[in-house]
Amino acid sequence: MGLCTFLEHHGIDYKLNESLKRLSYVGIGGTASLVAYPKNRGELLCLLSRLCKKGIPYKVVGNMSNVLAPDGEWKICLVCAKRMRGVYFEQGMAVAECGVPLSVLCRKMLEFNLVPPKELFGIPATVGGAVYQNAGAYGLSISDRLSFVDLYDPREDRVVRVDRSELFFSYRRSDVSSRGILLSAGFVGGEGDLFSAEQAMEEVAARRMASQPAERSLGSVFLRVGDTSAAYYIDRCGCKGYRIGDASVSEKHAGFIVNEGNATARDFLAVLDFVKARVLQCFGVALQTEIEIIEETEGARWLRFV
Ligand SMILES: Cc1cc2nc3c(=O)[nH]c(=O)nc-3n(C[C@H](O)[C@H](O)[C@H](O)COP(=O)(O)OP(=O)(O)OC[C@H]3O[C@@H](n4cnc5c(N)ncnc54)[C@H](O)[C@@H]3O)c2cc1C
Repeated sequence: MGLCTFLEHHGIDYKLNESLKRLSYVGIGGTASLVAYPKNRGELLCLLSRLCKKGIPYKVVGNMSNVLAPDGEWKICLVCAKRMRGVYFEQGMAVAECGVPLSVLCRKMLEFNLVPPKELFGIPATVGGAVYQNAGAYGLSISDRLSFVDLYDPREDRVVRVDRSELFFSYRRSDVSSRGILLSAGFVGGEGDLFSAEQAMEEVAARRMASQPAERSLGSVFLRVGDTSAAYYIDRCGCKGYRIGDASVSEKHAGFIVNEGNATARDFLAVLDFVKARVLQCFGVALQTEIEIIEETEGARWLRFV
């Protein structure tokens, strides 16, 4: 049975030749050969098990707010978790499926009388992507509030619950990818009262609006260098506004490369390379990328889903 027939048989939504401009947060990319949209954990597990058994190349994504897709055809089965939006109150914590947006998680936690990770409010991430990247802002990382994760282990074809203490997290890094696919995660409430937390969420959102560009982007393109933001260096070597095609270094925040309309991955990468070279030339600092760049050739050379 081909993958499409399998998906139809199991009632899992999918689209062939899906536009990555439409799917990705930054609005850049060609097409993905097949994108599957599981609605719940059962569908995701059924699909992952099939993909692993058949050796079909796949990648699970959330909002694609940290992934730069290629301009051509990405020959892969993308598994988009965005429709998996269940959040439950269990044993004094909030348990969220991997596709839940962080802002929804924060609001749900307030409903459950738990102080949410308010510093993360407004990051356009899903729970899966945020835990994978150990997303963070204003001194808080998502791993600070994590209690456990449920992972699908492709080697064993089974689900495992892993306690926070058994996982490794550092600045924008985790070892989740070496262990499996994140299905859901449990979060504990923080210190303080709910009213102040709700107010702080609004303040964080306003701060983001004031400091970040309105155009589509992938957030900060580069990692901090010690305690210094990459934006500090980029700004000081005069890169703000530097543009190739429709990709440019934001005038508002030098750490962001924005899509002003019809930018291609090629434009985006050309701007990125220019910025890296300038910062190296001016300060002797080698910037490291925070975003994930998918190579044009990644995925299978030949795939047939039907
Ligand atoms: C405007 C803007 C502001 C931002 N601000 C911040 C910020 O303040 N702090 C910050 O840390 N980041 C920030 N980011 C970057 C980005 O939002 C985060 O890196 C986020 O964690 C990515 O989440 P996602 O759901 O979009 O993941 P995706 O981009 O879809 O995926 C990222 C990685 O996670 C993997 N992944 C996704 N889901 C799963 C899963 N279920 N299981 C296993 N692996 C998975 C993917 O395969 C991929 O490798 C910002 C981005 C933008 C556009």
